Amino acid sequence: MEFHQLTLKELQKGLSNKDFSSVELTSHFIKRVQNSELNAFITVTDELALVQAKKADSIIASGKMNDLTGIPYAHKDIFCTEGVKTSAGSKILDPFISPYDATVSEKLNDSHAVMLGKANMDELAMGSGNENSFYGPVKNPWDLSKVPGGSSGGSAAAVAAKLTPFSTGTDTGGSIRQPASLCGITGLKPTYGRVSRYGMIAYASSLDQAGPMTQTAEDAAIVLKTIAGFDKRDSTSADKTVPDYEKSLNNSLEGLKIGIPKEYFSEGLDDGVKQNILDAIKEFESLGATLKEVSLPHAKFAIPAYYIIAPCECSSNLSRLDGVRYGYRCESPKDLSDLYIRSRSEGFGDEVKRRIMIGSFALSAGYYDAYYLKALKSRRLISNDFQEVFKEVDVIMGPVSPTTAWDIGSKKDPVSNYLSDIYTLSVNLAGLPAMSIPAGISDNMPVGLHIIGNYWTEERLLNIAHQFQNQTDWHKKSPKGID
Ligand code: GLN
Repeated sequence: MEFHQLTLKELQKGLSNKDFSSVELTSHFIKRVQNSELNAFITVTDELALVQAKKADSIIASGKMNDLTGIPYAHKDIFCTEGVKTSAGSKILDPFISPYDATVSEKLNDSHAVMLGKANMDELAMGSGNENSFYGPVKNPWDLSKVPGGSSGGSAAAVAAKLTPFSTGTDTGGSIRQPASLCGITGLKPTYGRVSRYGMIAYASSLDQAGPMTQTAEDAAIVLKTIAGFDKRDSTSADKTVPDYEKSLNNSLEGLKIGIPKEYFSEGLDDGVKQNILDAIKEFESLGATLKEVSLPHAKFAIPAYYIIAPCECSSNLSRLDGVRYGYRCESPKDLSDLYIRSRSEGFGDEVKRRIMIGSFALSAGYYDAYYLKALKSRRLISNDFQEVFKEVDVIMGPVSPTTAWDIGSKKDPVSNYLSDIYTLSVNLAGLPAMSIPAGISDNMPVGLHIIGNYWTEERLLNIAHQFQNQTDWHKKSPKGID
């Protein structure tokens, strides 16, 4: 077996048994990253990785190994990394070298994980196909003419192509789950507040949440354990103990009640995807679960509510990218207002500008009540729907994406991109945890099953996903040419 054919868990065992060193492991993955044509990385930190790997080997030799010690990973370029360029896929941050680490970066460093580089992403995490990156689109390893999903497209493609055992992602409206689904890997968006947002470049602060992207649920449990936890530097982080997510992976699913929202199986859902999802859900019956149709009547408001709230928050968050404080500045500005206008006009891409304009408009006097306040009311109704459903069932299952990955360049208008987020957005609006796990193949492209739980049920979600992965081998399928 070559290193990339092993899961994170297997690599962890190998390192701890001293079957191989982190330097050997890291060198192997660096070679794969360097030979890859997916454009999954914005920055490759090969030299730093070897320094970190050497350090990890000395930690292992001293017997003080942590869960991720010596394990290579790809870090979404939205997390600040001290001394390493952090661009968030945008020209406006292009020469920005962070003077400090995000909490997630710090936790990974403290665990002595080995960073291979910064993963490509949609500009400032806005997008569903990774086509909005200033650094160019990422290719889906299952078919190089297709998108990997977005915005954590580089992170997903890197795991699917086995360039890294795991990666980090962030999910504001689906950006961990949807690329995980489109690339056939496992992705977990934790409950809002579970993972610190400190040092994670803000898109929409009330929705953003970081999480793991891995081959298996077991691996996601290991990564989540490391990155989760209270952080006094993030006022929305929850002061709750982090369970050992690995402990309950083997719990029985006997008696599990699964809700299937009828709104998730209506118009717009591709037939092939639908069949795969229904077959996958049926699999849970043989594991002792029961199925029940449920309703989320306000699900139809998710797209309009999200595409008001997220732009409103981003128009405020991105005001700090002004050409003065960070990154890009226009050439020879005439005066201060010329500096602001041209730096922002030249530094931001079209989609980001569109959202800043929508957000500024919706927040302006006279429109606030008509748009922003209405969107907040819809958000409450969407959250209430979930709470009603969770009185009857333990988890909700359905598709992550209405289709499999589409051709790069084929979605010409922004709205067709927004529509592809139909099943993921409401989870962020409600702040719930959810996963995407590989659950089928349709037209040679992977299909992800969506598992949504109530607040703080990551442990149960991982357990459910792990039991499914014990019984099926969808998560073991790899793109052609990648074995
Ligand atoms: N596709 C959604 C958007 O464009 C979600 C992005 C995300 O989760 N970061 O906003």
